[in-house]
Amino acid sequence: MTDAATMDKIVALCKRRGLIFASSEIYGGLGSTYDYGHYGVLLKTNVKNAWWRAMLQERDDIVALDSAILQHPKTWEASGHLAGFTDPMVDCRACGQRFRADHLGDLPCPQKPSRHPGEGPQCDLTEARDFNLMFETTMGPVKDSGATVYLRPETAQGIFVNFKNVLQFSRKKPPFGIAQVGKSFRNEITPGNFVFRTREFEQMEMEFFVEPAQAGEWYEHWKRARLQWYTDLGLRADHLRMREHDPDELSHYSSATADVEYLFPIGWSELEGVANRGDFDLTQHAKHSGEKLEYFDPQTKERYVPHVIEPAAGADRATLAFLVDAYDEEEVAGGTAGEAGGQRTVLKLHPRLAPVKVAVLPLVRKDGQPEAAREIVAALRGLMQTEYDEGGSIGKRYRRQDEIGTPYCVTVDHQTIDDQTVTIRDRDSLEQERVAIGALGELLASRLAAPWQSPKLAVV
Ligand code: ATP
Repeated sequence: MTDAATMDKIVALCKRRGLIFASSEIYGGLGSTYDYGHYGVLLKTNVKNAWWRAMLQERDDIVALDSAILQHPKTWEASGHLAGFTDPMVDCRACGQRFRADHLGDLPCPQKPSRHPGEGPQCDLTEARDFNLMFETTMGPVKDSGATVYLRPETAQGIFVNFKNVLQFSRKKPPFGIAQVGKSFRNEITPGNFVFRTREFEQMEMEFFVEPAQAGEWYEHWKRARLQWYTDLGLRADHLRMREHDPDELSHYSSATADVEYLFPIGWSELEGVANRGDFDLTQHAKHSGEKLEYFDPQTKERYVPHVIEPAAGADRATLAFLVDAYDEEEVAGGTAGEAGGQRTVLKLHPRLAPVKVAVLPLVRKDGQPEAAREIVAALRGLMQTEYDEGGSIGKRYRRQDEIGTPYCVTVDHQTIDDQTVTIRDRDSLEQERVAIGALGELLASRLAAPWQSPKLAVV
């Protein structure tokens, strides 16, 4: 059986259920920018929280940081972004479109989509030239050259320029890390594939500072740990791989880089990069700022510039991977326990990532059922993201929750009023069981915390 998920279906579901949709829609949209609606915000927040949890709560050698998006322009001089953060770009004189020269083979020609740019009879491509991906803006009311600042193209540099600060107030010593989540901006030449590549996106980056001799060991550690994070959150292991960069792919400062790749509907693509950056960043910022960015070991009396291992992930790209991995379509035999027959679309998300954990549904809008359901919502709300829904047939309401990946539906029926019990419907197995209202909170909380694996694992 082939995987039901295609990019078009994911885009359609996200729009239908208000997870993610085109930005500025009333003005016709703005190329490849997206807004997240209620369920999308909940989902992406859960992804970011899972990352923070792995970085902060489950270890004691990483501290958090939230640096400004606008930084001193010298930051980008020191980091090399001003001179070298470029992609090769070509223009087509015939259709007026621009393309990334190294992506031509993956792109359709706008005039003849069955061919690639440059292959159509009228195509007339220019020579490739470098295009800097940083967005420029002006700081303050005066527009002169001294006021030019940049929207950060990555969160990492905010960490490096704060190395000394953090070292002082956190009382950490290598090996230790600084983690940050936030927006980054890149004027991508060819954004696309929904939120896979956009011009404004969120990154989850951590810089781990180590003694130079230990860099290789920590590089291996972080590759393992980051791959594990995705599988622990339910991504199918056979849709994930670690791809080590060839020597000619490496940036000049990196001695080793590997990408965590996911098998998206567009093929194997980068989810996250793990890089051994050596001492490049701290050395560069020390040179440009005049500050010493090093660590003095009081025991050995040695002073050294720590080396850096960087796992750099994208929150939007990870969210897309979780959506793709979870998306499924199934035939359901109708008639039993309120299930509507026919095809259902369901997001088999890891319960920890699901936007809503439980929906409470009165079977009918009378006989005291809505009141009983609202009481249950009030009791569960403090424990987990809970939703009340009384609109439409019970079968339709189950489908709605399936489409946003709600792992459990609690149904209040006539028996509830007699004996204070409800049914719990499991999103994946569709099984229903009757439990006492008093036991609901504890039961659901323990199920949400239990290890979970994708029911799609058996489907190849
Ligand atoms: P790519 O090769 O796809 O352009 P990159 O190697 O330039 O990515 P990094 O600079 O390593 O990416 O950024 C770390 C992570 O940030 C990426 O793995 C990805 O998840 C995310 N990311 C980078 N650029 C974008 C973008 N334009 N849109 C969405 N996410 C992005």
